[in-house]
Amino acid sequence: MSDTPSRSHGRKSIRPTLKPRSLMDTPEELVNAWQAQVITLFPEAFPGILGHSLTGKALQEGKWQLTPIPLREFGEGKHRNVDDTPAGGGAGMVLRPDVMGRAIDVAAQSARPGAPLIYLSPRGRPFTQEMAQDLAQRPGVTLICGRFEGLDQRVIDHYQIAEVSLGDFVLTGGEIAAQALLDATVRLLPGVLGNAASTEEESFSDGLLEHPQYTRPAEWEGRGIPEVLTSGNHGKIADWRRAMSEEITKARRPDLWEAYQARLKG
Ligand code: SAH
Repeated sequence: MSDTPSRSHGRKSIRPTLKPRSLMDTPEELVNAWQAQVITLFPEAFPGILGHSLTGKALQEGKWQLTPIPLREFGEGKHRNVDDTPAGGGAGMVLRPDVMGRAIDVAAQSARPGAPLIYLSPRGRPFTQEMAQDLAQRPGVTLICGRFEGLDQRVIDHYQIAEVSLGDFVLTGGEIAAQALLDATVRLLPGVLGNAASTEEESFSDGLLEHPQYTRPAEWEGRGIPEVLTSGNHGKIADWRRAMSEEITKARRPDLWEAYQARLKG
C-alpha cells in the first residue's frame, strides 16, 4: 500500500484530491455502500488490518468503502505544514485549524448525508458496542485522526465534532483508534460476518460478557470440557451459558452488571 498512499480501498476509488470526483460517477451499488472517510497524516496506514480477513473481504466485495484523506495535502506552504507550537507555550505541536478545516470541507463534499464527523480523542466519550451498532445503522462516518498534542479547539467547536475515545490511555495518534472503531462497526454491517447469529450472542450484545468457549480436544492438559456442553441438551446448554455470563459479568464488571439489572427492573 505504501506506494499508493492516497488511494481508496475496495472495488472503487474516490480520489481524495482537492476536488473530489462527484458521487454521480460512482456505480449505484457503491453509492449505497457504507462509507468510511479517514482524515490522517498516514493514509498508507489504511486499510491496515482492516484489509484482512472478514473486513478485508467485505471491502473487496464493496460492502463498505474506505477513503483515506491525506491531511498533508492540505498543509501550508512549500513544506505543507500541518502543525504549529501551542498558544501559551508548552511541549509539542498542535494541528492547525485552517489545515484541518480544509480537509474536513473536502471530506464533507463526498460524505454520505447523515454520516457523523468524529474525532478520535482521549477526551472523548468512551467507545462502546452500542456506538458501533448505531454507526452501522448510518450511511457511514468521517473520522479525524489526531497527532502530536491534538487539534486546535476552534476546529472542534466550529464543526461541532463529536469526540470518541478508545479508552483511558494515550496513543501517539488516532489511526489505531480509527481502525478499532471501524473494525467493530464494519463487522456489524449486513453480510460481513458469515454467521449473523454470532453478533447476537457475543459480549455486550445483551449487556453481559460472554460465557466461556471450548472446542476440541475433549481433554487437554488434564482439563475436560464442562459436561453440560457435550450433553446435547440445548435448553440446559442455554441455561448454563446464561448463568456463566451473569457470573462473569458480576465478578469482572460491576458497572455492566448494575446497568443490566436496572434494565431488567425498568
Ligand atoms: N494531548 C492530548 C493527547 C494527544 S495524543 C491529550 O492529552 O488529550 C495524539 C492523538 O492520538 C490524539 O489527537 C488522538 O487523535 C489520538 N489518541 C490518543 N489517545 C487516544 C484514545 N485513547 N482514543 C482515541 N484517540 C486517541
